[in-house]
Amino acid sequence: MFDIKETDKKYVANTYNRFPVEIVEGKGALMYDKDGKRYIDMGTGIGVTAFGINDDKWTEAVCDQLKKVQHTSNLYYTEPCARLAKLLCEKTGYKKVFFGNSGAEANECAIKIARKYAQEKKGEDYYTIITLKNSFHGRTLTTLSATGQDHFHKLFNPLTPGFVHAEANNFEELKKLALENKTAGIIMEAVQGEGGVNPLDADFVKKTAEFAKENDIILIMDEVQTGNGRTGKLYGYMNFDIIPDVVTTAKGLGGGLPIGAVLMSEKVENVLGFGDHGSTFGGNPVCCAGAISVIERIDEELLSDVRKKSEYIFDELQNADGVESVTGMGLMIGIKTKKPAGEVVKECMEKGVLCLTAKDKVRLLPPLNIPMDLLKEAIDTIKSSLE
Ligand SMILES: *Cc1c(COP(=O)(O)O)cnc(C)c1O
Repeated sequence: MFDIKETDKKYVANTYNRFPVEIVEGKGALMYDKDGKRYIDMGTGIGVTAFGINDDKWTEAVCDQLKKVQHTSNLYYTEPCARLAKLLCEKTGYKKVFFGNSGAEANECAIKIARKYAQEKKGEDYYTIITLKNSFHGRTLTTLSATGQDHFHKLFNPLTPGFVHAEANNFEELKKLALENKTAGIIMEAVQGEGGVNPLDADFVKKTAEFAKENDIILIMDEVQTGNGRTGKLYGYMNFDIIPDVVTTAKGLGGGLPIGAVLMSEKVENVLGFGDHGSTFGGNPVCCAGAISVIERIDEELLSDVRKKSEYIFDELQNADGVESVTGMGLMIGIKTKKPAGEVVKECMEKGVLCLTAKDKVRLLPPLNIPMDLLKEAIDTIKSSLE
């Protein structure tokens, strides 16, 4: 017998502490392990499978493209890449899109845009990027440097220079740091996901956006987790009545295939020219076909449904015994539980509900279209696991 757990432990690098569950298939918000045990998926592979597992429209779009051509490199034109870029621009008002393969790569590209814009316009010493404490921007060395959590940095020095971390929701400090340094860009998450599902204060976001605009500093919203309908709007920044210069996204965009995107406003659409940036896999036609089937379906009807389900979760959990607080937006929710979050997640898993953690919270990122009966069942299970 092939022992998957032992083989994985022996041959796969030790970077993941996996749960003792082997998922073999699923449909929508349900997943099944190798013994046929049923799970309600409240984590979507960390906000990735936006319409659930093996979703009919998504699978059809992906398989159709797979049978035509799976990869060409960026030396040639392919239809899904052009169609997806058009769709994203038409739905958001952004002017151009760069495609990569992950959230970290999208942020790398955004940082390059901010630096090139500032260095061309203001001088080569304008390279500082202000990010927020408790943020998460990725695992490459530069996005790790952007990430405002020291424990990720330990023993990986020297980091990429030019990143300064400001206290979230403290506009005066951010402003001071941005003016003290020769600042090229500011990066924020509308809701700090890995940091504990904490939405930024609306006033802070607005003041920061105005300040960036007045000082010709590139405002980048990292929508890797908050993007693509997750917060109840197409992109998280749309909850704040601001227009960032650059938006990065990934996770839910591809519905389960690796793709990241950088949306560029008119101000920066031509900053990167031939040879300034690239990616072998970026804009892969199969990934783009999957992403089209996701983005096409994120309309006002779906988004209002996301917001309704969000309200339901808040109503059910906010005053539940064993809950200290509920934070988040849309179907991106953090629950501070009296019991350690890890224990709640473990108990839910035993009862057939898969949840995530973020810092000391239980985190929920269910499919955007999770049926109400399954959502109710999952929330009831969570409630029964809090004490
Ligand atoms: C997950 C995440 C990233 C990193 O994305 P990868 O695809 O893992 O590189 C970056 N920023 C935010 C806000 C994220 O949630």
